[in-house]
Amino acid sequence: MKAAVLRSGKFNIENIDKPQLKDKKGAIVKVIGCGLCGSDIVKLKTGMAKDGSVLGHEVVGEIVEVNTDTKFKTGDIVAMGHHVPCFNCLYCFSGHYSMCRHFKTTNIFPGGFAEFIYVSEEHLNNTVFYVSEHLTEIEASFLEPLACCIRAVKRAGLEQNSKNLIIGLGSVGILMGQASKAFGNEVFGCDLIKERVMLSEDLGFDKSFISDNESILTEMKNYAPIGFDNVFLTAGASSGLDFAVKAARDGANIVVFSSVKDNNGFKNNDIYYRELTVMGSYSPSPMDLEDSMNLISSGKVDVNGLSVVYNLENLNEALNDTISNKIMKAYIKL
Ligand SMILES: [Zn+2]
Ligand SMILES: [Zn+2]
Repeated sequence: MKAAVLRSGKFNIENIDKPQLKDKKGAIVKVIGCGLCGSDIVKLKTGMAKDGSVLGHEVVGEIVEVNTDTKFKTGDIVAMGHHVPCFNCLYCFSGHYSMCRHFKTTNIFPGGFAEFIYVSEEHLNNTVFYVSEHLTEIEASFLEPLACCIRAVKRAGLEQNSKNLIIGLGSVGILMGQASKAFGNEVFGCDLIKERVMLSEDLGFDKSFISDNESILTEMKNYAPIGFDNVFLTAGASSGLDFAVKAARDGANIVVFSSVKDNNGFKNNDIYYRELTVMGSYSPSPMDLEDSMNLISSGKVDVNGLSVVYNLENLNEALNDTISNKIMKAYIKL
């Protein structure tokens, strides 16, 4: 089968073995399409992903073979999360499902940028969801990334009417804002790119600001006089945390949701004197995936206009267009 295999920091289209069920429990899914995630780009650029591996985890596909007792049958269109927690360890008991050691070892095989994938029995039982007929394949491909944002919003706490600021209005920032809105908060955003600021307001943000530098803090005061209750960092810029600390009110939560090249020090005194809570949020639990499918299905989150469609053969172009901010999000059609 055809797959995009990682070779020296680039995708190479190769013929590899199709995954087989044989006596393994689980299903074979024919991939319809797969979103290109920011984390795929980080893995590829930093060498975290090994040569020869197949990336891609925001999969929409059709079940073509089943070998287990499951509610799914051949012909079903599904979307999925790629890691499954054990529900029975210290991390799972404390709600940190994505820190579960089992979670980190489970995956779909070989990866979404391939014609077929193997999905295990425990995936089918926990992280695979039907795509209802009224959803498009692209809408369904947002199941996993939106679930990551839902987890971040829950981590910050679900008090209603909080004033939330999203720093960075790429596709993840927009999803974060919409997730935050769906849970009853007032949502603000900022980004350097004017079109993204305008798009965020079209998609339901209460107010977004151009620029992420300090001059904008004065204008933000008109909307959040004492600062924001929750600040979400999705931009991946090394100045992000510093800006988040300034935009936050005393006692606020800051949710770190992106990796940066250079770690930016530790705001010891701000965190201490101002009782800030700085937390990370990484990957979703099965319950976040379920919430995500509900928000997409009910139309409470609108992902239309975020993705540009590419073929597998153009995956390197999709990668470059995403890195250069030419597009917000790539959906790779198999
Ligand atoms: Zn992802
Ligand atoms: Zn666990």
